[in-house]
Amino acid sequence: MKRPYIGVIQLVDDEKKRYWMSPGYMNSVEKAGGIPLILPLTKDRDVLMQVLHDLDGLLLTGGHDVDPHLYHEDFHEKIGPLCPLRDASEMMLTHEAVQLNMPVFGICRGLQMLNVVLGGTLYQDIPSQISSTEEHRMPKPFDTVSHSVNILENTPLYDILGSKNIGVNSHHHQSIKDIAPSLRLAAVAEDGVIESIFMPNRRFILGVQWHPELLYDKDEHSRALFSAFVRACSQS
Ligand code: MN
Repeated sequence: MKRPYIGVIQLVDDEKKRYWMSPGYMNSVEKAGGIPLILPLTKDRDVLMQVLHDLDGLLLTGGHDVDPHLYHEDFHEKIGPLCPLRDASEMMLTHEAVQLNMPVFGICRGLQMLNVVLGGTLYQDIPSQISSTEEHRMPKPFDTVSHSVNILENTPLYDILGSKNIGVNSHHHQSIKDIAPSLRLAAVAEDGVIESIFMPNRRFILGVQWHPELLYDKDEHSRALFSAFVRACSQS
């Protein structure tokens, strides 16, 4: 069987002025049966649309904070570094992929972008906007459990993981405030931070706030997530 082509959003290193990739995203997609392809970052819509239409799925990766102007808020004083090129590229790619009913898997910033693209909002700085004792911004190497998440039954996430509570790694500065109208809650941390969302009645539109790509080799739940995503990408 032909393996699905899955577009992966590349990362941007502002200090070194370089694009880069975390191997976990690429290796997890490949081990789960897909072929990962790094996508160009560009504000040229025609370029992005031509590439997207040849793909079977889209993987939205982690990274910078999302520009709050995209959800009509001013900067919070603790906003982190932004990346206008990623914002622009991902807005166009994600919107079109959703229109096409193409599988989209959003990880960390990817979950946040999914929510913003579809009309939701974010907390710009968890420590100053949410009262919590959970460690959402664990130190490196991000490959151990940092906090637990409660998974709602009757969600695709529950179907994939078969568990109502799992431990996850966590390294994020922002989180979802208002869920976009077309998205639904799938998992939440003990402090109320939204950890997973999905779009009903789609092949696979799912976001997680944690980093399964960094736990693939030692965590069955992480493997199950990538397997479900790649399987959905194979079924066009
Ligand atoms: Mn978290």
